[in-house]
Amino acid sequence: MKKYFMVDLFMFASSFFKKHKKNYRSVKDQQLTIAAKANIFICIIFCLFWTIYFAFAQMWLIVYMDIFFTLISIFSLFLIYINRISAGILLSQVVLLVFPVVFCLFFDIATVDRPQVAHLFLPAGAILGYLNYRREPSYLQFILILLSIGCFIFFSGSSFNLESAIPLSEDIRNHGGWIATCAATLMICISIYTMQLEIQIENSMVKDLRLALAKQQFELFYQPQINSSETLIGAEALLRWHHPTLGYVPTKDFIPAAETFGLMPEIGEWVLAQGCKVLQDWSKKAETKDLTLSINISADHFMQATFEQSVIGLIQQYEINPSRLILEITENIALNNCVSMIEKMHFLSKNGIQLSLDDFGTGYSSLSYLQKMPISQIKIDRSFVQAALDDKRSNKLVTGIIKIGLDLNLRVLVEGIETTEQFSAFKNNGCTEFQGYLWGVPVPLNDFLEQLPHLNSSD
Ligand code: C2E
Ligand code: MG
Ligand code: MG
Repeated sequence: MKKYFMVDLFMFASSFFKKHKKNYRSVKDQQLTIAAKANIFICIIFCLFWTIYFAFAQMWLIVYMDIFFTLISIFSLFLIYINRISAGILLSQVVLLVFPVVFCLFFDIATVDRPQVAHLFLPAGAILGYLNYRREPSYLQFILILLSIGCFIFFSGSSFNLESAIPLSEDIRNHGGWIATCAATLMICISIYTMQLEIQIENSMVKDLRLALAKQQFELFYQPQINSSETLIGAEALLRWHHPTLGYVPTKDFIPAAETFGLMPEIGEWVLAQGCKVLQDWSKKAETKDLTLSINISADHFMQATFEQSVIGLIQQYEINPSRLILEITENIALNNCVSMIEKMHFLSKNGIQLSLDDFGTGYSSLSYLQKMPISQIKIDRSFVQAALDDKRSNKLVTGIIKIGLDLNLRVLVEGIETTEQFSAFKNNGCTEFQGYLWGVPVPLNDFLEQLPHLNSSD
């Protein structure tokens, strides 16, 4: 038993310095985890110190309180240790909110000589919460941050306390004040340092993304799309970044970052040019000439003044049939329901290019834009796929979406089909087109072309 405890203790200690398989997100997670562990560790040491101190002073109420907060802090450390990072930080933030507030109200009562200090732990909790919020936004996290800031302002600006308060003696506050101030300042410094490291990681990612274009580290992968008789009808081109040392960087890590730093228009131009080149090659071969190619367009790329002209320019340059090109836009583009946006769409559509509404149903779906915009396809997001099979309400919702699409004469494609059961369910619901791992994961162009005989054999 003792042996395993020592092993666990060693694992726990080494997890402070644990090296994960490196990618931008895991490096950021690692920084945040270290900051959270360090802050909680300081909190535990602080509580334990006062537990012993007040036990000697026989102030049992504070001793029980300190033990209670120590145990919760140890539990939050455990949550982080088992990789429940957000839950662990949320819990530690609750400690860093409740503990100072209780202390300010009942024990740490300001005197003429000594100000209150317990509230100095509140900004430490707020900054840690903010770091966690950047990683995984949640309402609870947001409310805890606001409460921490609000309580900090309140206790800094007033000398409010309760009548039932049991003020600590001047002697204890003389030493305790300094210890609490040092501990809280150290926690704030650790969180600020972590924030600075995160910014450095982001900056290095932006620099790497800029280099990636110049050094041709981007690739397009292709995923098949089929119709209800399982005949191949086209493919979606999906961007991949092959980093020289990190390998393939997950799209969820680099595409949002490229969007935030305004790099998507430039990357998107490259994607469009590659896509048109591929369509040109496909147009020359009997087995590929009828295939369509769907290309994802980011909002800021679409909104560029020259976007539609550059698409037309590429179509002319590569001499391709515009109806083979499908531009996938998301609801946040469609929501920019301004005249120029609709004009852009009509211009593209009049020139024969198809528009598809990607991830349909996941945004602030407003059906009014379906009426105004020349969209020829909606793509039902894969989050609906399993939900529609598991739960009746989701099923009714999806059936409704499909019906609306079909009534508006739109093609309805469902993404993320992984099983034959899901395929049959959506086919029976009226979906006309399908995409998902059931027919193939996204692969490089050559692999996609090699799969063609197999994909076409189902017709
Ligand atoms: P999306 O356009 O909705 O693409 C579908 C995503 O679902 C792809 O993820 C694809 O690999 C994944 N997927 C397809 N079938 C299945 C399935 O059966 N099961 C599961 N679990 N996943 C499936 P990917 O490639 O990681 O792309 C994620 C998102 O990144 C895309 O979502 C799109 O919004 C964006 N993206 C990808 N390439 C580009 C691009 O060239 N330009 C822009 N602006 N965005 C892109
Ligand atoms: Mg897409
Ligand atoms: Mg999608």
